[in-house]
Amino acid sequence: MDLCNRTEVKRLLDKYNLAPKKAFGQNFLINPAIPQMIAENSYALAREAGDGPCAVLEVGPGVGALTSRLAEYYDKVVAVEIDRGLIPLLSESLADYDNIEIVEGDIMECDLPSFIEKKFGDILKDGGTVSVCANLPYYITSPVIMKFVESFPPTERLPFAAMTVMIQLEVAQRLAAEAGDSDYGAVTASLALHADVRRLLNVSAGNFHPVPKVASAVIGIIPHGGLADVYPEYKESSLSPEAIIAGAHKLINLAFGQRRKTFVNAAGVAYPKEKLTEALERAGLRSDIRGEKLTPRDFCRLADILGR
Ligand code: SAM
Repeated sequence: MDLCNRTEVKRLLDKYNLAPKKAFGQNFLINPAIPQMIAENSYALAREAGDGPCAVLEVGPGVGALTSRLAEYYDKVVAVEIDRGLIPLLSESLADYDNIEIVEGDIMECDLPSFIEKKFGDILKDGGTVSVCANLPYYITSPVIMKFVESFPPTERLPFAAMTVMIQLEVAQRLAAEAGDSDYGAVTASLALHADVRRLLNVSAGNFHPVPKVASAVIGIIPHGGLADVYPEYKESSLSPEAIIAGAHKLINLAFGQRRKTFVNAAGVAYPKEKLTEALERAGLRSDIRGEKLTPRDFCRLADILGR
């Protein structure tokens, strides 16, 4: 069964009385080269992380185009799909694979630490790795990414080899931006506290059915060592690492909540301005600096100084 052939996808959807649902961000891949490249990239990142058994969690299998490619590389694939109507279709379209499990559910409602332990505990116990891969629905791109990042202890390396995700091109540019770039924002800085972002490939709108209004890109989100990498001085702080990370997230949200203001004016709604100016000075930063110039490390350092 060719799960990337537009006619075949339409025939399958018709057979199960389905049509692509906008509310679930359903844009199915119809060029077989794209899921193949996503699966290859995902697996290459998994192999950078280790050579033991490897598993992948897919968000939103749709009709199974990417799922079937992932099953060619990974020992085990678990795919979570919110659309109940697609579950019987997936049983048919993926019937040839015995290493795929489809779970009906909303990834945003999922308790990720216990789900991962339940589905992949055996792989992890054998010294293996778990990756995440998805052609993410546009309506919840950043919330899904941040959920995967924020569901685990902020001071440890995230328990994934990598997350390889297709998202809107514009969001990919934002996530891969550096401090000072025009695309750098709250989500960039928050994600950078936990992981590095690698741009992998751009994908034009014509590769999907139905055709979306925007272009897409595939990125790899590769966990780093967490706070130990971003702000190793946390070990000398009187604050707990959790308090530093929480403070950094708070400052990031304040700084980007009012982008045009200086950091002192934007964060001034939550902290006395003299304290903010003094903290910037102690961190060796200009008192009129704007939030978009502050690096993830600066936010941690400021949270450390302000939290004491
Ligand atoms: N993976 C397929 C492909 O590449 O052709 C489909 C990708 S489509 C852009 C997004 C998929 O995510 C759809 O199947 C949609 O039903 C599913 N989805 C949307 N919201 C979801 C959620 N909250 N939890 C799990 N799946 C979701």
